[in-house]
Amino acid sequence: MYKKPADAHQAKLAPATRIAHGGLDPSAFHGFVNPPVVHASTVLYPDIQGTIDRTQPYTYGSSGTPTTDALRALVLELEEAEDCVLTPTGRAANACALAALVKPGDHVIVLDNVYFPTRKFCDGFLTRFGVTTTYVDPLDHGAVAAALEMPTAVVFLEAPGSQTFEVPDIPHLATMAREAGATTIMDNTWATPLYFQPIAHGIDISIQSATKYFGGHSDLLMGTVSGNGEPMAKVRAAWQDLGLHVGPEDVFLTMRGIRTLDVRMERHARNARIVSEWLSGNPLVHRVLYPALPGAPGHEMWKRDFKGASGLLGITFKDRTREEVIRFIDGLALFGIGYSWGGFESLATLAPMPSLRSATTWPEDEAVVRLHIGLEDPGDLIADLDNSLKAAFAA
Ligand SMILES: *Cc1c(COP(=O)(O)O)cnc(C)c1O
Repeated sequence: MYKKPADAHQAKLAPATRIAHGGLDPSAFHGFVNPPVVHASTVLYPDIQGTIDRTQPYTYGSSGTPTTDALRALVLELEEAEDCVLTPTGRAANACALAALVKPGDHVIVLDNVYFPTRKFCDGFLTRFGVTTTYVDPLDHGAVAAALEMPTAVVFLEAPGSQTFEVPDIPHLATMAREAGATTIMDNTWATPLYFQPIAHGIDISIQSATKYFGGHSDLLMGTVSGNGEPMAKVRAAWQDLGLHVGPEDVFLTMRGIRTLDVRMERHARNARIVSEWLSGNPLVHRVLYPALPGAPGHEMWKRDFKGASGLLGITFKDRTREEVIRFIDGLALFGIGYSWGGFESLATLAPMPSLRSATTWPEDEAVVRLHIGLEDPGDLIADLDNSLKAAFAA
């Protein structure tokens, strides 16, 4: 017999230990540490009675395999949830959770700083099904209370918010929503469940774009939706109805990525802290939007509720022309220009502010550049930023 892996979740082991042990069951696979990558559509049954009873653990490829179950078990260790579904993208995770929890005529509240495709899903897809959305200032809890006066099915938040990194009082919002009878969904991609556990803070449904830090290597797309009880049962039913199956190779890569989540996150956070401190002392930079930085917007709330930080931050420029800001980004040598983040490499993008907001405004004259601080040497990144800032702005 092989040692049975510890039931880490039950044993209250530390997150790093859960990351190393979660989802492993060597006794089921001849002792091999990792589960096999099961490629499957058809699952055979011993006889027709088997297809009628459907009591065997696996029934069809899209309903789950030992490979998907291993990743699910690992994610559940981190989320401390009862159930989890894997989706083909983070975007699909958000869409599946929202679609699962509303019906025609319902009202949802969405914080104004969510990832743009989430807003687009509400304004487009959900509108076609007669669901209305109210956007609220992420830092104005009175506005949330006012919006909750209208019967509300779902409150959706992302924290820190995409592009501008505001940090609301998440447990307070979760309590307000629960008292009003609404289900809460949180996109927790920035912190990962390693550094913020939505469910332990009163959120019903926790979402991760696993494309980012779970995968960690810029080579896959994946999403996870986790939760408990009736809301999660509805998500699972929608997931099944929509056929949101994920390919086994991507599941394998995601699981390989998560095994090093703890060490990668620690380094991303350390590098981002060093780079953000340098940026905040640079007179060419107006503001640094990184909640882990003392004095930055959202720092107090981040310190109260989060156990750590990731490598994604924003920097702003005041009264600069668009051409100057673009010249700064184009002039960076070590920062790739591209979407997504959470991989090992540094990236820069121009945030499309002041559009993307409807309940709040962003100053017309304050440009935001989003930086993902990768695993490079922070001294090299600072030298690169310094060169490009000087070339773009100091002339
Ligand atoms: C990238 C991202 C998503 C979507 O993930 P994909 O896998 O790229 O679809 C969702 N939420 C946030 C906050 C993201 O940054």
